[in-house]
Amino acid sequence: VETNILRIPGPTPIHPRIERAMNTPIFGHRSQEMKDLMQSVKHGLKLSFGTENEVIILTSSGTSGLEATVVNATSPGDYVLVLVTGAFGNRFAQICEAYELNVHRIDVEWGQAVDPEQVKDYLSEHPHVKAVFATYCETSTGVLNRIDKIGEIIQDVSNETLFIVDGDSAVGGAKAEIDAWGVDLFVTGSQKAMMLPPGLSFVAVSERAWEVIEANNRPRFYLDFRKYRQSLADDATPFTPAVSLIIGLQEALMMFQEEGYEEVYNRHLRMKEMTRAAIRALGVSLLASDEDASPTVTSLVLDGVTSEELRSLLKKQFGLSLAGGPGQLKEKVVRIGHMGYCSPADVLQVISLLEIGLIQLGKDIDRGTGVAAAQD
Ligand SMILES: *Cc1c(COP(=O)(O)O)cnc(C)c1O
Repeated sequence: VETNILRIPGPTPIHPRIERAMNTPIFGHRSQEMKDLMQSVKHGLKLSFGTENEVIILTSSGTSGLEATVVNATSPGDYVLVLVTGAFGNRFAQICEAYELNVHRIDVEWGQAVDPEQVKDYLSEHPHVKAVFATYCETSTGVLNRIDKIGEIIQDVSNETLFIVDGDSAVGGAKAEIDAWGVDLFVTGSQKAMMLPPGLSFVAVSERAWEVIEANNRPRFYLDFRKYRQSLADDATPFTPAVSLIIGLQEALMMFQEEGYEEVYNRHLRMKEMTRAAIRALGVSLLASDEDASPTVTSLVLDGVTSEELRSLLKKQFGLSLAGGPGQLKEKVVRIGHMGYCSPADVLQVISLLEIGLIQLGKDIDRGTGVAAAQD
């Protein structure tokens, strides 16, 4: 029997309800059906982001959303601060460099969250920073940064500094209250905790950010937020969107509302706790501390076997896909995605298979130790 158990931190598995919705016969992107669809997803997106502002839908992966924030809200030479906690924070810094910003970074050891006090110290010495870029869930390490605290600090220092956050792999799995946190631009992609296939990016934009965007004369076309804002007012998109994915989005948002957002976030917290308890019981190290750990992805640090050995064995024997580590942690770290269409029952399956893999590679473990810890 062919099995494919996808537990990497994105793309994530698709629920049959969403699969079925996406099989709806296609309709025109200028039809009444499309208008109704756009109107229906607007509300749910606001709930997922914790905002009253409109959320733009781009037809392209999450990285395009990151790039679009830079293109729309900055100008060459702008002095910006990027908080780098892993590969995705580093990507944000690279995008800023590509667009000729004056980039300053706070680099944190991979596996740790950024200390908000460090941001405070930096900003009190450099109050004229045009924008601060951060990553909510650093998917490459499994760390959740304190966006609420950092937002508070930025607001205390200056009301001119934009706060631009990569929320990919967090939105849909970790609580987002971006209006309350003072986030100006917040990005996510479709294929992580949003339960959809890859292909869409979502960007929430604050009123303050709109002022900067409207006044900005950096050249742009496909990713020009002004076009999307204008179309959204009419329940439309400026260009042909991935209609089928937006039909899937409507179903995903309906599922969030049926389960209740609080319960969605609690389920993710439970899956995190189960995974971490199991890994600990197996005598394997965790990369992130309890305080810093994300509810959507867990990184374990191997000793004696490589990430590739364990992952290829699990893939070959059980069809289970797990991810490796980022950069220099490639062979030491295994990442388990527990987000989106994933339940505590799925976590028990992953832990059980992980135990067998570790035993086969020579680790001295009593069968069931990890599963029992997760069950507890
Ligand atoms: C997945 C992800 C992205 C976007 O990557 P794409 O390959 O463009 O989908 C950006 N940031 C984070 C934190 C992510 O997890």
